[in-house]
Amino acid sequence: MAPIFSPLPDKPDHGALELELLDAWEREGTFEKLRELNRGNPKFSFVDGPITANNAMGVHHAWGRTLKDVFQRYKALRGFDQRYQNGFDCQGLWVEVEVEKSLGLNSKREIEEYGLAEFAERCKERVAHFSEVITDQSVRLGMWMDWDRDYYTFTDTNIEYIWRFLKSVHERGWLYQGHRSTVWCPRCGTSISQHEVFSGEYKEVEHPSLTVRLPLTGREGESLAIWTTTPWTLPANVGAAVNPDADYVLREDGVWVARERDPEATAAKTARGSDLVGLEYEGPFDHLPAQEGVVHRVIPWDDVSLSEGTGIVHIAPGAGAEDFELSRVHDLPVLAPLDEAGRMLPGFGFDGVSTEEVEQPVIDDLERRGLLLEAGRIVHRYPTCWRCGTPLVFRVVDDWFISAEEIRQPMLDANATVEWTPPFYSKRMDDWLRNMGDWNISRKRYFGLPLPLYPCEDCGTLTVVGSRQELEERALGGLDQLQELHRPWIDEVPIACSGCEKEVRRIPEVGDAWLDAGIVPLSTLGWQSPEYIPEGYATGAGQGLTKADLPDHAYWEHWFPADWISEMREQIRLWFYSQSFMSVTLIGESPYRRVLTYEKLLDQTAREMHRSWGNAIDVNDAFTEMGADVMRWQFTSQPPSQNLLFGYGPANEIRRRLLTLWNSARFFVDYANIADWRPAWGDVADGPTGELQPLDRWLVSRTYELVREATDAYESYLTVNVVRAFESFVEDLSNWYIRRSRRRFWDGDPVALGALWYALVQSLRVVSPVMPFLSDHLWRALAGPVESAPESVHLAGWPEPREADDNLLAEVAELRRVVELGRQARSSVGVALRQPLHTLVVEGAVLAARHAGEIAEELRVREVTFGTVDASELRVKPHLPVLGPKLGKDLDAVRRALEAGEFDALPDGGFRAAGHDLGPDEVLVERRGKEGWAVATADGVTVALDAKLDEELLLLGRVYELIHRVNSLRKELGLELTDRIELTLPESDSVLLEHSDWIARETLAVSVEASGSELTLAKTGA
Ligand SMILES: [Zn+2]
Ligand SMILES: [Zn+2]
Repeated sequence: MAPIFSPLPDKPDHGALELELLDAWEREGTFEKLRELNRGNPKFSFVDGPITANNAMGVHHAWGRTLKDVFQRYKALRGFDQRYQNGFDCQGLWVEVEVEKSLGLNSKREIEEYGLAEFAERCKERVAHFSEVITDQSVRLGMWMDWDRDYYTFTDTNIEYIWRFLKSVHERGWLYQGHRSTVWCPRCGTSISQHEVFSGEYKEVEHPSLTVRLPLTGREGESLAIWTTTPWTLPANVGAAVNPDADYVLREDGVWVARERDPEATAAKTARGSDLVGLEYEGPFDHLPAQEGVVHRVIPWDDVSLSEGTGIVHIAPGAGAEDFELSRVHDLPVLAPLDEAGRMLPGFGFDGVSTEEVEQPVIDDLERRGLLLEAGRIVHRYPTCWRCGTPLVFRVVDDWFISAEEIRQPMLDANATVEWTPPFYSKRMDDWLRNMGDWNISRKRYFGLPLPLYPCEDCGTLTVVGSRQELEERALGGLDQLQELHRPWIDEVPIACSGCEKEVRRIPEVGDAWLDAGIVPLSTLGWQSPEYIPEGYATGAGQGLTKADLPDHAYWEHWFPADWISEMREQIRLWFYSQSFMSVTLIGESPYRRVLTYEKLLDQTAREMHRSWGNAIDVNDAFTEMGADVMRWQFTSQPPSQNLLFGYGPANEIRRRLLTLWNSARFFVDYANIADWRPAWGDVADGPTGELQPLDRWLVSRTYELVREATDAYESYLTVNVVRAFESFVEDLSNWYIRRSRRRFWDGDPVALGALWYALVQSLRVVSPVMPFLSDHLWRALAGPVESAPESVHLAGWPEPREADDNLLAEVAELRRVVELGRQARSSVGVALRQPLHTLVVEGAVLAARHAGEIAEELRVREVTFGTVDASELRVKPHLPVLGPKLGKDLDAVRRALEAGEFDALPDGGFRAAGHDLGPDEVLVERRGKEGWAVATADGVTVALDAKLDEELLLLGRVYELIHRVNSLRKELGLELTDRIELTLPESDSVLLEHSDWIARETLAVSVEASGSELTLAKTGA
């Protein structure tokens, strides 16, 4: 007769079983069945933060996607109806930069030569390709999503929703064009907003370090000394700032510096900074055309640093943010020296050269004219572009901004309603909101959100188009070629100005990509959409990529706000911020109720992963070499407030730990098949049947406890606690229940088999969101043959909560602590585990007293007594690394006092010896046994083991050793668990025949004899 349960191999082949299950889920329609089960139930609304469909997935993406999948799976087991909509981010600088690279284009001029329509097509192709790659990788990871109905942020639908937001912002008077100093990437040719600057890396960059002399007008022989690391800004100098409250000195070499910067200098003159304000000086490049008519003045500035440079700061409002602000206060001219590509403009003396190329010519020029006091090099941390890594510069340009002032407090109020995991991130969000500047929304680029802004030079009206329909109503031509709302097509549609009806054109700028992702909680859920349009989301560039519906407003009412979202911590100033900004503006409330956020992924040695460093792990390699479950285990066992150290080392360790679960399941399968034991599905609801022994009752309670702990962990969105609870449960199951019940399994005890089966299948249900493959594989092995059991663990729902017997759990926990201490005591005196001993004395473990028999068996002692461990005495030693430095020459006296036992215990756990109070962490405390006794102590429990051996104990030790050897041999010879043997001991062991019945029972021997010089065993009937 075929066995009921298919036997499991020695260890799981994660890769193979995962691919098999992906097939099975597809074939059986498992995900669709799950959605069907939950349809119409109470909802769990998750809104996916879009992944950029720009490259293949990285392992850090796999972390975030695992967490999203874990909680969607958990909520599905709890019966919640869900949307499962995945999102792709598809336009903006990040896509453009990759397409530029792939086409070998290196500047905006080259893109324009290539043609904007062609360039847009290449961007769309890239998104189409990588959204498919990412989908395949996500499926491989085990992520369940409604893959056909993804949202794409470059659809016309998404764009129209952003247009509506911008129109609303304009109606409130928040939208303005700012002539401002902005951070600028010379390679990308666009400004970089505040949140993007923070996303970029600060790299170690080497720059010149120049001290320059600027002669004061009308003060013969006196100059100001200024310091700069950006020579390209000097031709744009218009002022010099001093700290009005600092002291300045005129040194003997004729230059003024702050006293603090050169305290030793002999001063020819001294002055307060405020005395210098208003003096005029000769600029470093007065002869340049751009400098014509500029009067250079000394201005006051409280922020002038006295900790670097000369204490006098060179001011170029066209080349620095703070300089620009000062120009407004002091009415200074703004000379902007750079073009879009970061090259010097005509009139600044170095036409067309880059900020780097101009360094040496500027230095040479200053030196020739005798203005250079010092020239060196400096290595400092400098911000770089988050997309292309180019060092950033400052430019004064016209950009479009949304004022943040009026929305700041409402956003703070909205954040107060959000529950953050871990909670301290809520304050991080508050900090960001309190300090956020106005939102720079315009980018001088191509394939991005077309900003619907149409300024009129005639009447001064700014027309903001709020929808495609409005565009068509106002259009004065070009609609026939408008295949989608992107550039270049949108630029060919002029409209009538809403003020004077004259023809106006769109500004050329596109929008910040965070507008695209920020609108998602409104656009994908159909906010204010009058009707439900099947596949209505697939518009514009998204056509053919998705079948996503455009839901109606009622649907939005149902699903908004998100119950839960999750992304990496940096999204506080990115997606968490932008969607809150847009939602609070339009709806007046937060678009999410709860957020899980987490730190960074590093390599296993805590270094950042970089392809160029050779330590990046390709996600496909990880699938092949670790398996998705093991990756997911790494991600989920991580506390979210710490960086994750990801790698093959931790993966191997996880694989080893998961073997305990596997071996327990395999053990069950083997013995259930031998006993021809068959479970009933009803046993899962009601627990194991029959006459339960105390150990069975404990296992059942322990299973209830696992369900309780895992429920709490999932409900608080902390996967690390799920993993901890599960690992500790499996440890108990394997190293306590199974080990202590081995004989019952040999005897085919149906109650033990039932209890073990129950514990295993319940634990698989609990862990299935974290580890969907192995849990389903084992589910199919254990529950598959059971009539009316769900075919997949993912369709089995969440286990009913039951009341655990907490007293019993505490009792066994204490019992296990005693056994653990007993083992420690044994190994401290080097007695082998198999060697029986006489006596164990236990102190401080009242609950374990009922389990004396189990303790005796576990520790192989003949007698266990509970009482005071009088066999031990306290020994205290100085902890030298701490006490040495503290006590100095007194250390010897203290050491001698401790050695002599001349000390008093203090209430804090410390001791007083030789006149010194020693803290608990300054001493090492040992409880040592009297002669022949081994002692171990922890957490208020102490055990003492009588380690003395006699003839009889030694003989018993030899028998245990023999049994162990025989059973190892049985395994080596490949005997079945049921095979009987004939056993022959060497003559030298004939004394052991005294215990031949016992030996026969433990080794399944039909006969035990002694002859010859070798241990031999033969299978009977073979
Ligand atoms: Zn760049
Ligand atoms: Zn007008």
